[in-house]
Amino acid sequence: MSATRKPGRNFLFVPGPTNIPDRVLRAMHIAMEDHRSSDFPKLSLPLYERLKKIFKTKEGQVVIFPSSGTGAWEAALTNTLASGNKVLIARFGQFSHLWGELAKRHGLDVIVQDEEWGTGANPERIEEALRADKGHEIKGVLVVHNETATGVTSNVAAVRRAMDAAKHPALLYVDGVSSIGSIDFRFDDWGVDLAITGSQKGLMLPAGLGIVCASKKALAAMKDGNCRHAYFDLADQIKANATGYFPYTPALPMLHGLREALNIIDEEGLENVFARHHHLASGARAAVEAWGLKLCAKEPKWHSDTVTAIMVPAGFNGADVIDVAYRRYNLALGAGLSQVAGKLFRIGHLGDLNELMLLGAIAGAEMAMRDTGIEVELGSGVAAAQAEFRDGMQAKIKQVAAE
Ligand SMILES: *Cc1c(COP(=O)(O)O)cnc(C)c1O
Repeated sequence: MSATRKPGRNFLFVPGPTNIPDRVLRAMHIAMEDHRSSDFPKLSLPLYERLKKIFKTKEGQVVIFPSSGTGAWEAALTNTLASGNKVLIARFGQFSHLWGELAKRHGLDVIVQDEEWGTGANPERIEEALRADKGHEIKGVLVVHNETATGVTSNVAAVRRAMDAAKHPALLYVDGVSSIGSIDFRFDDWGVDLAITGSQKGLMLPAGLGIVCASKKALAAMKDGNCRHAYFDLADQIKANATGYFPYTPALPMLHGLREALNIIDEEGLENVFARHHHLASGARAAVEAWGLKLCAKEPKWHSDTVTAIMVPAGFNGADVIDVAYRRYNLALGAGLSQVAGKLFRIGHLGDLNELMLLGAIAGAEMAMRDTGIEVELGSGVAAAQAEFRDGMQAKIKQVAAE
C-alpha cells in the first residue's frame, strides 16, 4: 500500500463544501449545450421559482451568479447602496467580520457592533443604534444568520422586529450561506430585503453559484446603488433572466446540479430537511457534552443545527486534532478561524448526510483528540449521539403511528 493512498471514503465534515449526492454528481456530468437555444429556458426558468420556495418568498426576486457566496455578498451590497452610505453590521465571527471588511472595501461607512464570539446579533443593541440614528443615515443592517465560524445561529425575526420597533427604513441584509436549505429561513415573514447564499453548503453542490434574493424594497433601492459593480449587476441579470437567459455564459453543469439538488430537497420535504439537521445537530451536541467539552456557542439559544464548534481544553491546539484526523483517519474537520484559531475545531453537519455518517465523524474526532492527548473517553461521544439518535427515531416512529 502506498503511503499516500487513502482507501474508502473521505469523511468530509467541514461546514462547506459538503457531500455531493451521487445523483447530483451524475446530473452535472453533461455535454455542453447552447445557453442561447430555444430549449435553455426550460432548464433555467423553473430554477428561480423553485429557489423562491427555499428562501420562503412569494415576492422576492432570485438571481443566480456564477460565483461563490462572497460574490453574492458583494452583489447584494453594491447594487443597493451608494459609496459612503452607512451600514450597521453585527460581528461575532469570521464570516460577519469578512462581510464587514468587504463592505468597507466598497467605500461603505461600516458601523461594527461587536458581540462576543459564541453569541450572535443583539436585537436590543440594533434597535438602540437605529433609534439613535434620527436622520436615517444607516441604509442597511447586515446580519449573518448562521455564523459558520462559531456555530451560532442568530434570530433574524427578532432583528426585523427591532428594526420595526425603531421605525427605521434601513434594508435588512442577511447572509444565509450556511443556513438556507438546512435551517428554517423565512425571507417574507422576517422582512428580509436581501438574502444571499452559496451552492456548496445546504444545497449540496460544488462552490460556484452565488444566489441573491431581493425584496421589492431592495429592487427599488437599486436606483441608488452606485457602489461600483459591473459583473455583479442585478439589473442585467434580472433583464436576461426574465426570458430564461443570462447576461453571460452560465455555469451549465451547476445549473443541472441545482435542479437535481432541488429535486432531492423536494423529495425529502424542506421541513423534514430542517428536522433532520436539528436531529443530527442534537447528536453532535450530545457527544460534546459526553466528552466533557464546551461548545463555542455560549447558550442553547445560539446553537446552530449545521455546524458544531467544539472548544479544545486549555493547553491543546484544535489544529492538531484536525491534522491528525485528516492524516490518520481521512476525516476532514473545520478549523478555528482568526480569534478562535487553535482554540476549537468544527464538525459541519449540513447537506446530504445521515446519523451513521455523523457517528463516523464523532468516532474519528474522539480518536484524533486522544491521539493529541485530550482526555476524552473513547466511545463516549459516539454512545451519547447514538442514544440521542435513537430517541429521535423513537419519537418519529410514535408520531407516524399516531397519524
Ligand atoms: C461559506 C460562507 C461564506 C463564504 O462563501 P464562499 O462561497 O466561500 O465565498 C459566507 N458566509 C457564511 C456564513 C459562510 O458559511
